Amino acid sequence: MIPPGFEYHAPRSVADALKLLGQLGPDAKLLAGGHSLLPMMKLRFAQPEHLIDLNRIESLRGIREESGTVVIGAMTVENDLISSKILQARLPILPEAARLIADPQVRNRGTIGGDIAHGDPGNDHPAIAIALDATLVLEGPKGQRMVKANSFFLGTYMTDMAEDEILTEIRVPAFAPKTGYAYEKLKRKTGDWATAGAAVVMRMDGGKVSAVRIALTNVAATALRAGDAETALLGKPLSDATIVDAAAKAMAICDPAEDLRGDREYKTAMAGEMVKRAIRKAASRCQ
Ligand code: FAD
Repeated sequence: MIPPGFEYHAPRSVADALKLLGQLGPDAKLLAGGHSLLPMMKLRFAQPEHLIDLNRIESLRGIREESGTVVIGAMTVENDLISSKILQARLPILPEAARLIADPQVRNRGTIGGDIAHGDPGNDHPAIAIALDATLVLEGPKGQRMVKANSFFLGTYMTDMAEDEILTEIRVPAFAPKTGYAYEKLKRKTGDWATAGAAVVMRMDGGKVSAVRIALTNVAATALRAGDAETALLGKPLSDATIVDAAAKAMAICDPAEDLRGDREYKTAMAGEMVKRAIRKAASRCQ
């Protein structure tokens, strides 16, 4: 199927893109990699009259470090996350997880900003951004504002971003030394979205868990922070019992939709399994 007709705009700056968004109003949509938006247009789930292509805005691409914070431009594509020396050294969970997203063609065009802005609970970056305590930078007609990833996702395809705003940057504190990390994703085949996924970022001190963040992919209407699972681990030595307890607490907040990937019970059980695997892998990297 081909999408319905639309007018194409290609601004060269964020200011110009914002001006267009303001002029064209709700009939306009931002175009990033197009790997979620264009399929929706082909299926007639979205029928924007105007597409504002962000691909010519150079300032939205690239990865840099600013005094301990890694700043990722929203238009940075998955393949650039994978090859980034800064991320490999400072936030290795991102290149590792990006390899699990879709397939090489999609990773060549699909952007981290589009993956987050789309608000699809099946996408992988939302849970990873929550586990990383990322801050999302939004530019709009009234200027810039920052939103924590943890409060950005409001529902399926719903985020705390207004129609006249653009996600410009994802800002993430670089890992402290000895930070353990893992993103575990169960998928049916290469190129598939997660049946369930879990992101874990943690540190150990004196044999006990001193910091931990856990977030889940595709087991509810949004990516979820598993706060009770974190509490089950904090301040305790890691044992099979504490890991099982944390996984049970993560499963308790799952509310997945049944689909071809499985029923609610199976997806919830798989979320628990992903949490266990991710905690064990993250712990093994805390040194
Ligand atoms: P687009 O499709 O261009 O845009 C998506 C939405 O976000 C649109 O509403 C657009 O207006 C909005 N938007 C985009 N950028 C901005 C911005 N900077 N500010 C404000 N709004 C913006 N994703 C996964 O996470 N995991 C997977 O396993 C996975 N598998 C896939 C398999 C296939 C076959 C395909 C086609 C896609 C898959 N995806 C997967 C989705 C893919 O990662 C998309 O690229 C991503 O969801 C959207 O990013 P995009 O850059 O393509 O955005």
